[in-house]
Amino acid sequence: MGKLDGQIAVITGGARGIGEGICKIFCKEGATVAMWDILDEGEKTADRIKKEGGNIIFQKVNVTDQSSVNIAVEKLIGEFGKIDILINNAGIIRDRSLLKMTRDEWDRVIDVNINSLYVTTKAVLPHMKEAKYGRIINASSINAFQGAFGQANYSASKAAIAGFTRALCKETGRYNITVNAVAPGFIKSEMSDSMPEDIIKAGISMIPVGRIGTPEDMGHVYLFLASKEAGFVSGIVLHANGGAMPM
Ligand code: NAD
Repeated sequence: MGKLDGQIAVITGGARGIGEGICKIFCKEGATVAMWDILDEGEKTADRIKKEGGNIIFQKVNVTDQSSVNIAVEKLIGEFGKIDILINNAGIIRDRSLLKMTRDEWDRVIDVNINSLYVTTKAVLPHMKEAKYGRIINASSINAFQGAFGQANYSASKAAIAGFTRALCKETGRYNITVNAVAPGFIKSEMSDSMPEDIIKAGISMIPVGRIGTPEDMGHVYLFLASKEAGFVSGIVLHANGGAMPM
C-alpha cells in the first residue's frame, strides 16, 4: 500500500530536476500525478515515469498565466473530481549582482517564483475547500535565509514564499488544508548544474553529510508534508540541506 493511494497531486515544474524527483516518488506511493510544466520535455519525462508503472499525465501549463492554470484545473476536476495535493515547485534563476541586474531579470524571477503561487493556489484552493482536504507545499530555498551573491531577486522571491506559507495556513486550517514550504539546500539539477564548477565544489564542501542532495531526496521530504499523517504540521518551512544551515 502506498502512502498516497487514491490521491490526486499537481506538481508544477515537474519536467526535470527536483520536480521530476517528486513526481517519481509520489507515483511510487500510489498518487495520480498531474505534472505541469512550460517545457515540452515534460511529455517525455511523464512517459518515462509511466513506463516505470506511474500514474501520471503531463499538462503543458505556464504557472504565471491564470487562464492556462484554470484550464488545467478544470480538466482535472472534470476527470477526477478533486485535487488533494498542490506542489508549487516551478522556479527560475536569473543571477546577477544588483548593480548589473536588469528590471526584466528582477521581474521574471518575481513573476515565476512568487506571483505564480497566487495564480495556482487561487485556482486549486476552492476545490480543496469544497472537499475539506488539502496539502499545499511551496518551494522556498536555503538562499531565502542565508542570501547568495547575485541572487537578490531569487532570495527575495523565496523569502516571500515563506511569508505566503505562514499567512495562508491561517486561512485554510479550518478546512483541513495544510500549507507548508520546503527549503532545499544544494540539489543536483539543471538549475544547480548551470553554476560555475568552483562554486559547485565549494558548495558541496560545506555540506556536513558530504554530498549534494538528489531530486529523490527532495521527493521524500515533500512526501512527508503531502501525507495524510502530516495533518498537524502547517505553516512551517522544512529545511532539507544536509546540515549546511541548521535551523
Ligand atoms: P530546474 O530548473 O531544473 O526545474 C524547474 C522546472 O520549472 C523546469 O522544468 C521549468 O521548465 C519549470 N518552470 C519554469 N518556469 C515555469 C513556468 N512559468 N510554468 C511552468 N513551469 C515552469 O530547477 P530545480 O533545481 O529542479 O528547482 C526546483 C525548485 O526548487 C525551484 O523552485 C528552485 O528554486 C527550488 N530550489 C532548487 C535548489 C537546487 O539546488 N536545485 C535549491 C533550492 C531551491
